[in-house]
Amino acid sequence: MAEFRFPRKHLLKFLKSKNSKEPSALYIHIPFCTSKCLYCDFFSQPSSDEEVVNKFIDALEKEFQAFADLMSFNNVETVYIGGGTPSHLSERQLEKLFSLLRKFLNINTVSEFSFEANPESLTEEKVDIAKDSGVTRISLGFQSLNDEVLERLGRVHNAKDCFRAASSVLDRNLSLNVDIIYAIEGEDVESLKRTLDAILKINPHSVSAYALTLKEGSMKALKPKSADCAYEDYKLICSALNSSGFEHYEVSNWARTGFRCRHNLKYWGRDDYLGLGPSAASLIDSLRFQNSSSLDEYNANNSVYEVEELTEEQAELEF
Ligand code: SF4
Repeated sequence: MAEFRFPRKHLLKFLKSKNSKEPSALYIHIPFCTSKCLYCDFFSQPSSDEEVVNKFIDALEKEFQAFADLMSFNNVETVYIGGGTPSHLSERQLEKLFSLLRKFLNINTVSEFSFEANPESLTEEKVDIAKDSGVTRISLGFQSLNDEVLERLGRVHNAKDCFRAASSVLDRNLSLNVDIIYAIEGEDVESLKRTLDAILKINPHSVSAYALTLKEGSMKALKPKSADCAYEDYKLICSALNSSGFEHYEVSNWARTGFRCRHNLKYWGRDDYLGLGPSAASLIDSLRFQNSSSLDEYNANNSVYEVEELTEEQAELEF
C-alpha cells in the first residue's frame, strides 16, 4: 500500500490525473461539541466562540469549492452531517451551512439526508431549519435514558432532554435514529432494560447500539464491562429490538423496514464517498484519504491529507 501526505492542491491534482469518479455519498464533519464526553475519540472540541465556528464554515466553503472545481456533485445520493455535534451550531450558523450545501448540491436529488444531533442542543427551531433544508433523518445521541449513566459518560444532557428532542423530530415526520451505548461498567441489566423499554415507547425508525470502548489513558472513573458481560448486554439489546419488529441489518444497527441508513450501507459496501471537514475520510476509486485533524490548519486552508492508494487485492480484502 502506497501512503502519502498531500496538501490539498496536490491531492486534487492527483485525483484529476486519475480521472476520479464522482462520489455518491457526501459526509461533512462539524468539529464542535457543547463539551467533551469522557469516552470520546472523535475529532471535536468544545466551542462557544462564534468567530471560530464562522471561520470553520468559511473554510468548509473553500474546501467544497476546491472539490467542486474537480468533480460535479450530481451523483450524490446520500448526505450525512456528523461530528462532533452539528446541532451545536447556532440557528444562524445552520442556515449558513445549509445554504452552502444548496450552493454545491441539488438537494432534490439526494434521497437520504442525515443530520446528527444531541438532545441538549436540538431546539424545535433547529429541527425546522433542518427539515426546510432537505434533511430527512435525524440521528440523536441519547446514549442512555438513565441520568446517572449519562453523568458517568460525561454527557451534558439528561433523559428529559432526550424525550423532548425525540418528540420534536417525530412531530415533524422526520426519520429518527437513536444511538445508545452499552457495556458500561456499573450499569446493571435493569437500567439498560429500562432505557430499551423507554426507547421502544418513543418508537424511533432505527437504533444504533455501540459497546463502550476507551482509548488508553481515558478517565479511570469510566470503564467498559468485561467481554462476557458486554455480550450479555448485547444479547439483551438484540432480543428487545428483534422481538419488537426491528430488522437487525448490521452488527450495531437495527431499523424498521425501509429505514436502514443508506449512507452507512454505502460505507460498508465500499461505494465512493467524499468527506469534507477536519478529520473526514474519503474513498474515491482506489484512493483513501483523510483530512488532517487540526482545526487551525483547516481554517487556514492549509490542510494536509493522509493518502493511501489501495491495490486491487487490498480493496478486495476490505470488501
Ligand atoms: S457529543 Fe459525541 S463527538 Fe461530542 S464529545 Fe461527546 S461523544 Fe464526542
